[in-house]
Amino acid sequence: MSNKANRAQQWRLFISSFVGFSIIFVLLGIIVFVLFSRAMLTSTDQTLRVERSARLNGPKQQKPFMPNTSTPHKTQQFKASAHPFMTTTLIFNPRGKILNRTQLGSRYDQLKSLTLDKSAVGRLQTIRIGGKYNFRTLLVKVPKSNSDQTIAGKYLLIMENIDPQKAAMSSFKKVMLITMGVFWLLSILISVWLSRLTMRPILRSWQRQTEFVGNAAHELRTPLTIIQNKLEFLLTKPNDRIIDQAENIAIANSESQRLQKLTHDLLALARSDSKSLQTNFEATQVAGFLQRTIEPYTEIAASQGKQLQLLPVTDFRAVLDQDLIHQLMNILIDNAMKYSPNGSTITVSARVVGRKWQLIVADQGLGIDPQERQRIFDRFYRVDTSRSRQTGGNGLGLSIAHWIVDLHHGTIAVKDNQPRGSQFVTTLPLNPPTGMSGHHGKK
Ligand code: ADP
Repeated sequence: MSNKANRAQQWRLFISSFVGFSIIFVLLGIIVFVLFSRAMLTSTDQTLRVERSARLNGPKQQKPFMPNTSTPHKTQQFKASAHPFMTTTLIFNPRGKILNRTQLGSRYDQLKSLTLDKSAVGRLQTIRIGGKYNFRTLLVKVPKSNSDQTIAGKYLLIMENIDPQKAAMSSFKKVMLITMGVFWLLSILISVWLSRLTMRPILRSWQRQTEFVGNAAHELRTPLTIIQNKLEFLLTKPNDRIIDQAENIAIANSESQRLQKLTHDLLALARSDSKSLQTNFEATQVAGFLQRTIEPYTEIAASQGKQLQLLPVTDFRAVLDQDLIHQLMNILIDNAMKYSPNGSTITVSARVVGRKWQLIVADQGLGIDPQERQRIFDRFYRVDTSRSRQTGGNGLGLSIAHWIVDLHHGTIAVKDNQPRGSQFVTTLPLNPPTGMSGHHGKK
């Protein structure tokens, strides 16, 4: 991924998480504020409703509110029972004239601007008077049949001052805006951090992929160039016999075999990356399986002047994918033969350790330096490039081996062999969880 594309992707990730955070904050803010405001007005609305029923139903309680007979003192007494000091009632005649002007006293000047809006009957409303006083109101139409003749057929506007609630709401709003602002700024930092965190594995895997493709192209190019050169050379000698050019033909042939192995390995790794391999785990008697697998290699080893031995195995049963374990042994035995001298012995052994079993391939070759032991499982990694080129290696064998072991939920490690050489110890569960493949992304 180019730096530009990479930055663009990171920017997109940042924007999406930032927008996500902002939406959550705004929604949260709105919900909290609406709920808070509602809670603040609930008791006021309740008071207004109580007042309405008192007015419409309670003849005893209505008395003190008769506009012309009630004294301010009595009014206050009643109000105290509903809501202390804060409830005011305007009585309108159907033409919109305020009838209880005297009872309202000095408040009348501020309230006289209120008009009768008959469509608001039964509705709870919030109004503002004189630009500074806030009221919650409920307009009631008193039926003509009401026993209290002073209000029968009139309109009552029951009002409750909500300035304290408004003040609380506004300071709550302020605190909330500040808190949200702080968290919003924090969310910028978190979004940057998240976008970086998300990009890291993508970049790493992209880098690995680029390296892999580069290495693969390089590996493919070398044998192809050799084959091409040899063929071009042969074309310049049309009259030669095959025997005259046997060496060139043999080189071209061995390079094409090398190409075949390489493409085969690359395909295996591509499958491991895409996790598209269909595994076939089955219960297997290990001793017989190892015997059958090793047989063909003993002849090959003998033809190279080496000895391949399967040490006696006490038979046991393990669940495994036979094709894959066959491929694993192929890689390990092939390496053991490639990297050990003529006349040496390669041994294969297996044993049960608790709920696991171990497959050990040991050789008497040059051995592997401790600091190389982790890296040899990396793709295309070869300890000695020139040596492994002579032996036909491409550095992919052990990464495939690692992937197979991963698929079986096992581990693979290299140890020193005594007195010389190396031991590849594969530890696999006797009953691996076969439902899913292992984590085999790295190698
Ligand atoms: P290659 O195709 O080069 O053998 P592998 O992935 O199989 O690739 O092995 C990686 C490297 O590990 C080899 O190039 C070799 O240097 C080293 N190696 C693997 N097996 C052995 C072994 N049995 N003895 C010594 N070195 C080994």
